Amino acid sequence: MPNFTKSYAAQSASQPLTAFQAKRRDVLDTDVQINLQYCGVCHSDIHQARNEWHNTTYPCVPGHEMIGTVSKIGKKVKRFKVGDIAGVGCLADSCGKCPSCKENLEQHCEKGATFTYNSQEKHIGGVTFGGYSQSIVITEDFVLKVPKNLDRAAAAPLLCAGITTYSPLRRWKVGKGQKVGIVGLGGLGHMGVKFANAFGAHVVMFTTSPNKKKDAKKLGAHEVVISTNEKDMAKHAGSFDFILDTVSANHDINVYLALLKRSGTMTLVGAPEKPLAISSFNLIMQRRHLAGSLIGGLKETQEMLDFCGKHNIVCEIEKIPIQKINEAYERVLKSDVKYRFVIDLASLSK
Ligand code: NAP
Ligand code: ZN
Ligand code: ZN
Repeated sequence: MPNFTKSYAAQSASQPLTAFQAKRRDVLDTDVQINLQYCGVCHSDIHQARNEWHNTTYPCVPGHEMIGTVSKIGKKVKRFKVGDIAGVGCLADSCGKCPSCKENLEQHCEKGATFTYNSQEKHIGGVTFGGYSQSIVITEDFVLKVPKNLDRAAAAPLLCAGITTYSPLRRWKVGKGQKVGIVGLGGLGHMGVKFANAFGAHVVMFTTSPNKKKDAKKLGAHEVVISTNEKDMAKHAGSFDFILDTVSANHDINVYLALLKRSGTMTLVGAPEKPLAISSFNLIMQRRHLAGSLIGGLKETQEMLDFCGKHNIVCEIEKIPIQKINEAYERVLKSDVKYRFVIDLASLSK
């Protein structure tokens, strides 16, 4: 039996988000129902609400950085009880059997992972709906434990911005003695700085916004470079072990490739709509690597949350009521966010 929950949805690529009743499946034996309290606003929500990745099904309820309280559990649920704090990120389900799933890389499930929104809802048909919503029903294995000492609203964006930056920094073994660049100081970028600093690297922030310089230092950057200043960029040529690019729009990545050492790596997590141009010589001459990374699997997401609990790491946020969501999207597009909007979902009942 499906039920309905108050949400906000985009009805088409060109319309603002408006109130919507989202259909959820009833709680199955292995499901957890969560009363959602907070949901972060990721730039991916904007890309998808506006069909910039050309795969959106409407109505689309975005949101994949959710935290709330467990309100109901299925008969076979073992890890959660009613009243527990729970988090949900981008992943809602996967096959559990393929090599990627077996390696705890559910985001790369070879049968196609089910994402929390804009994926096929296998149980009741239609699409999955995300976290701009009062409640959600998710299979237990895809629900995360959120450390109690973390502020819930400030922890919500860890579920995407956190894991998306934590995972590539871990995979490329960023740590002491390394010079690491983070490109773009937005939701992802500010967490990239915090993690790279926590892992012991020398962190350089690249930003196009001179007014973010002070904040970048407070967040943990040892140096800040205004990326539009060619002279300042040239000073860092050939010196980086690793660069993480979080930019959401088209930009020249060759200027960053040139800053890598011989055999250095640059990983893209930003997902602009249009393809990026690459000069092969920037890679060939110093045998540099260009890589990509997609969120992180459940095991690593839990590891990241536990790491944040232990080191008291949360996101810098601005809380908004859902009624301000369209305004918030416009501000994100102008790089005017410090550094993640988080929706207080209690506003849905107003
Ligand atoms: P965001 O908060 O909007 O941050 C993006 C930052 O990029 C901006 O704050 C700005 O930083 C910089 N920027 C924006 N436009 C630019 C331009 N034209 N040229 C140069 N720099 C520009 O976005 P986000 O939520 O962090 O997401 C960033 C990107 O990652 C999005 O494309 C999103 O879809 C993608 N994403 C990917 C994954 C994944 O798994 N791979 C997961 C989540 C999100 P400055 O002001 O400092 O220059
Ligand atoms: Zn996201
Ligand atoms: Zn799989």
